[in-house]
Amino acid sequence: MAPLLETDGLRKTFGALVANDGISLSVKDGEVRGIIGPNGSGKSTFFNTVTGFYQPDGGTVTFDGEDVTRLASHEIARKGLARTFQIVSPFESLTVRENLLAVHSKGLRVRSEKRERAGEILEFLDIAHLADDEASEMSGGQQKLLELARLLMLDPKCILLDEPTAGVNPALQKRILDRLLAMNDRGTTFVIVEHDMDLIREFADTVSVFDQGRIIAEGTFDEVTAESRVRDAYLGAESDI
Ligand code: ADP
Ligand code: MG
Repeated sequence: MAPLLETDGLRKTFGALVANDGISLSVKDGEVRGIIGPNGSGKSTFFNTVTGFYQPDGGTVTFDGEDVTRLASHEIARKGLARTFQIVSPFESLTVRENLLAVHSKGLRVRSEKRERAGEILEFLDIAHLADDEASEMSGGQQKLLELARLLMLDPKCILLDEPTAGVNPALQKRILDRLLAMNDRGTTFVIVEHDMDLIREFADTVSVFDQGRIIAEGTFDEVTAESRVRDAYLGAESDI
């Protein structure tokens, strides 16, 4: 089967700094791909470059059989490749529901349809009771759910998640993960940057390890952590995993 998302030699520099140094990554339809790597290894830059927020200095991005390398971020999102940011940014003065209605979704032109879809998504994520609250009143974890809710308005095929559980309390973390798994069961593909190794082990089918703008290992969680440089960096030298 052809990959749903593929990058080939993706390169992004900031002056003399090479943040992405030829990233070639291929994600199958329906897969959950984990990305791990130290701070500054280029993970967020990769998401920004893949989704059109940064123009790459080289390489290509193919999504769903189409070259999307030079497309603008909103065009890429409308093709079904959506992403979250490490720092969430809802419209704080709008209510939760209004935040969803503000999303320009291609398939939902009629306002009543859009409201209905927004209601379904809020139910699905278990935040319907917050629909009329201002986004600014939500906790950091709830704002992550809101960000996910806004993405779902686009009905994406593939979602790139940048540290979805960072700064979220364990109960909410569990709920976010449970919902992501439910979406994956229904066919949504995920690429997920996470520092939480338990989560990556449980959730990711395949793991790509970033270091200094390159992929230094790729495989199942057990395969990549069998490599000593990966195991030492992430699990501690004493780990017997
Ligand atoms: P990670 O997400 O893995 O922590 P980043 O992709 O955020 O890493 O950063 C990779 C490198 O690129 C870092 O050295 C960072 O300082 C640099 N960088 C990221 N974005 C920018 C930017 N907009 N301008 C200049 N340097 C940047
Ligand atoms: Mg980052």
